[in-house]
Amino acid sequence: MPDEPTTAYHEAGHAVMAHVLGKDFKTVSILPDGVGAGRIDFKAPVSERSLEMESIVAVAGVAAEGLATGRLSVILQDTPRYLIIADDVHRLTSYLLQTGIVAEDDIPAFLQRAVMDAVKALRANWPAVEALAKALLKEKTISGSSARSIIAG
Ligand SMILES: [Zn+2]
Repeated sequence: MPDEPTTAYHEAGHAVMAHVLGKDFKTVSILPDGVGAGRIDFKAPVSERSLEMESIVAVAGVAAEGLATGRLSVILQDTPRYLIIADDVHRLTSYLLQTGIVAEDDIPAFLQRAVMDAVKALRANWPAVEALAKALLKEKTISGSSARSIIAG
């Protein structure tokens, strides 16, 4: 289990990325739920139309962890493993495989590209990630609307 500050950056990464890409969420939390160290609840399920967006939001937690801990280069060396540890890619990869949108052999490279895209966007919005991570450490669970005003500064 990652420590609480790492989890806060991870969940803030998902939330800020979702916000930037216009994907709504109900709550974001760093309370363990039996599955993961924290979680974000989205309003809509994964959709085929916006697969690229879904992928970038799914990997943004691990990308934010990498940026916050200085371990980004380590994570980039084996992105799929970190995403599996974070339990962030099962739904996405099974969807990718089911639909055949991305060939199985191409999935690691596809995820790695998504992480690079997320890193770029998170760097551009880092003050928002830090503000939300700080608020999560204090409040543990934050509603989508509160998160949006924290992100907006
Ligand atoms: Zn996650």
